Amino acid sequence: MVAGAGFRKNNWGDPVSSPRPKKILIVEDEQDIAQLLKHYLEKDGFHTCLATTGLEALKLVSSEHPDLVILDLMLPHLNGLEVCKTLRHKPETALLPIIMLTAKNEESDTVVGLELGADDYVTKPFSPKTLVARVKSLFRRLERTNDHKPTSLVYGSLQMDLTRHEVTVRGKEVLLTAKEFGLLAHLLRHPGRVLTREVLLNEVWGYDYYGTTRTVDVHVRRLKLKVPLLNDSIVSVKTLGYKLLDQPRV
Ligand code: CA
Repeated sequence: MVAGAGFRKNNWGDPVSSPRPKKILIVEDEQDIAQLLKHYLEKDGFHTCLATTGLEALKLVSSEHPDLVILDLMLPHLNGLEVCKTLRHKPETALLPIIMLTAKNEESDTVVGLELGADDYVTKPFSPKTLVARVKSLFRRLERTNDHKPTSLVYGSLQMDLTRHEVTVRGKEVLLTAKEFGLLAHLLRHPGRVLTREVLLNEVWGYDYYGTTRTVDVHVRRLKLKVPLLNDSIVSVKTLGYKLLDQPRV
């Protein structure tokens, strides 16, 4: 018996549906670069959609729900940095993977972009194959993070046991409230990334929480008091929110 078109077979010979192809939003106003990227990504099995301005990018993120965004820095109507910042501000797109395209002379902007939460960047001119490789490697990295649900988190001499709900610093237990624990766990899961107050509020307190972003500030302050190691390691980022440094600053 021959399986119908569009079916693959698993080890037992049953047809299985293929996993949904990942959709990538390409944000680039230079048409030749955009088309080149589209061609190479689609050749590799990705679905794509195109935006040529920052505003269009934000609209397409809402309507197309892409799995990843390739974001050029220089764009008409909201540049790449503004688009990145806006996406990171909204809870539903706060963790959407972003690869920035930058030119060599935009290096300082690249730093700002990474501070704002871009996951990776590629400098122009680049080979499309390199970019496709970076896209795949970012997806692999994210899948590993999702598959691997740790039962403990470590940050310098700090250890969080997520199943026993215990925090120790150099083996000595620190007593935290449930929200302080949740906040610390969220920061430890996203080191190096700027987390806005809105995102923290939604992730730790929940969408239906009836409070203000000041709640986050209060809890960060308490966390720092209880765990001095975090004092210099949780940094506030301008008016945006907080970031846990990749490594504790000691
Ligand atoms: Ca451009």
